[in-house]
Amino acid sequence: MLLVMKICNEVKFDVLVASHYGMCFGVKAAIATAHKIADKKTITILGELAHNATVKNNLEKKGAKHAKLDDHRSTTKHVIITAHGASDKERNRWTDLGYTVTDTTCPLVHKAHAALRDLVVSGYAPVVIGKAGHIEVRGLIGDFPTAQVVLDTGDVDKLNLMQSKIGVISQTTQQIDHVDEVIDTMRQKFPHAEIKFIDTVCRPTKERQNALVELCSKVNVIIVVGGVNSNNTAQLARKCRSLGSIAYHVQSPADLCSSWFKGITQVGLTAGTSTPDQEVELVKQKLIELSQQ
Ligand code: SF4
Repeated sequence: MLLVMKICNEVKFDVLVASHYGMCFGVKAAIATAHKIADKKTITILGELAHNATVKNNLEKKGAKHAKLDDHRSTTKHVIITAHGASDKERNRWTDLGYTVTDTTCPLVHKAHAALRDLVVSGYAPVVIGKAGHIEVRGLIGDFPTAQVVLDTGDVDKLNLMQSKIGVISQTTQQIDHVDEVIDTMRQKFPHAEIKFIDTVCRPTKERQNALVELCSKVNVIIVVGGVNSNNTAQLARKCRSLGSIAYHVQSPADLCSSWFKGITQVGLTAGTSTPDQEVELVKQKLIELSQQ
């Protein structure tokens, strides 16, 4: 099945858009909820709804404030937990302090929490493959003090596991092939342990990764749209490069440079899960203009 959509067939280069790209349903739903509440009262967002300046500015225009999830104090009475989720401990702390808490945790993050809980209840030593310190990972391990976090195969040596049963889940936005490599390394390092992996990489992440692989096989250059502080956007750009494509990470049409497309016949376009559709559209329109110049 063709996973890319051809949108332009002009003289200089074609622009192909990945079949899955951009903001996921979980982040969109969280932003919509925050706007709905911000229209009526002043809220504080505990973390970033999306790692994107436009998303942040649009809410701040409505008076929304931002605080850290573990600050435990806010100038407003109503606080919002983002789609990345939180531990029960953190969520209850805010409620116990008298704040009204709206929880916009993505259902697929809830699923990852439930998977880790099931593993712990079944006697597995908990391990999360993900970025230590990322808000989602902090939320996942927050209720399980013995949980350990690994990001790369190199981290596996640092794991301190004496148990015969090891239970592993992943941060929802990790690349599944990378997660599989870490699991393989763990199996080599702990050959006598039973390692149970529950795949919690979310469907939108997998769809975007698969679409990217297909796109890379069809184009010479890929434009990845997203905020500079967006980890998943940077991850998409890195993935393109690892597949041998030239990738540019841009935030807006102003970042596009016509010299990138000299002698190029096919340009791919994708975006991170925190990038609003409007920002991708603006870059797409600029690419179409450049392709016709
Ligand atoms: S990246 Fe996946 S888990 Fe995270 S908010 Fe989006 S859909 Fe949900």
